[in-house]
Amino acid sequence: MILAPPTDPNHPNDHTLVEHHDDPTHPAYLIPELCRGFYTLGWVTGTGGGISIRKGENVYLAPSGVQKEKIEPRDLFVLTLKERDFLRWPVHKPLKQSACTPLFYNAYDLRNAGACIHTHSQHAVMATLLWPGSEFRISHQEMIKGMRRGGTGTAMSYLDTLVIPIIENTPDEEDLREGLEEAMRKYPDAPAVLVRRHGTYSWGPDAERAKGQAECLDYLLEVAVKMKLAGMETVGLQQ
Ligand SMILES: [Zn+2]
Repeated sequence: MILAPPTDPNHPNDHTLVEHHDDPTHPAYLIPELCRGFYTLGWVTGTGGGISIRKGENVYLAPSGVQKEKIEPRDLFVLTLKERDFLRWPVHKPLKQSACTPLFYNAYDLRNAGACIHTHSQHAVMATLLWPGSEFRISHQEMIKGMRRGGTGTAMSYLDTLVIPIIENTPDEEDLREGLEEAMRKYPDAPAVLVRRHGTYSWGPDAERAKGQAECLDYLLEVAVKMKLAGMETVGLQQ
């Protein structure tokens, strides 16, 4: 359970953790940059979607309920990976850490991820409506090679079938945690989880590869939706 930032004025709040010194690999640089990019793709908006990046034993998180294309380093939260203690939080205005925080921690705890991405992509929403069961499947697509087993394992092959579990949505984002964990345990090879009528959770060994996989996943979901609507099977070579 993740609580609000400490209210004790004597509690240390290390603002140097969000000083990126123009290092393009620093999470405080990357999170605002990726949020701007994902906003233009329609993956994140003021009400949802986001990204978290791990740097060593620290986890960087964006705030919730803000315009994602306008996030700045000073808006970010930094928590410890193990105890989820607050190391740094914004003080220039009252902000809460992302409602996805417990979900991002699933990827860190269960997959040893370096970054986790949550999108509200329309391709994902449409896929979960066109695949009404608990799994999405696609095979024989070049872009499957862009996915890794379990998100952080070895690269998948053109000959592999990509299987992504689908869980049902909940009115509050943080209540997805248990369903997400259950799906991740049941599908250890799945590099993502789809949430019906909501979007995707995917992750990778680091921010760059998490981004690459999120892009491949979205491409595959878009192709699959188009194939389904054209009356084609997404598994096998049947036209
Ligand atoms: Zn969401």
